[in-house]
Amino acid sequence: MTGATRELLLSRIRDVPDYPKPGVMFKDITPLLADPAAFTALTETLAELCVRQGATKVVGLEARGFILAAPVAVRAGVGFIPVRKAGKLPGATLSQAYELEYGTAEIEVHAEDLGADDRVMVIDDVLATGGTAQASLELIRRAGAEVAGVAILMELAFLGGRARLEPALRGAPLESL
Ligand code: AMP
Repeated sequence: MTGATRELLLSRIRDVPDYPKPGVMFKDITPLLADPAAFTALTETLAELCVRQGATKVVGLEARGFILAAPVAVRAGVGFIPVRKAGKLPGATLSQAYELEYGTAEIEVHAEDLGADDRVMVIDDVLATGGTAQASLELIRRAGAEVAGVAILMELAFLGGRARLEPALRGAPLESL
């Protein structure tokens, strides 16, 4: 990705202080999605990464990960697989619980969507604590598939998500744009 593309993407991310609760700086990607040049540049960058890593499937993490991952899958010529919050997928699922700051959360994937022939790239907008991405890697491996990598638009480095994710990556790349 060129410096100009990086600047374009950065300029289309809006910082919203104290949302959804006091103390959180929310990274709003809706201006980026509304700008076709920026959205296309992001899609192409992520799709190139998928092709380079030999991904056969792209997993999007609910909900903003869906928006980014779906056009990437089309562009890379591979399948899109949604990883959803518990209780949203109608078929037989694999579930993975993970720790939040207060309490736990659970994500699910359709068991039939991933298998031993798959190399999977995980896509989301923001890496914060890394808990969601880490749980998604567990799901992918439990489905018998291989992890091609994790690609994130923004990493909130001060929250230490990269360190939390590192063991679960087992050498696969974590790319934050
Ligand atoms: P985590 O599991 O802590 O890495 O949180 C990652 C998930 O929460 C991603 O799906 C993000 O979309 C969302 N998220 C966490 N923090 C922020 C933030 N500051 N701005 C926007 N989204 C966030």
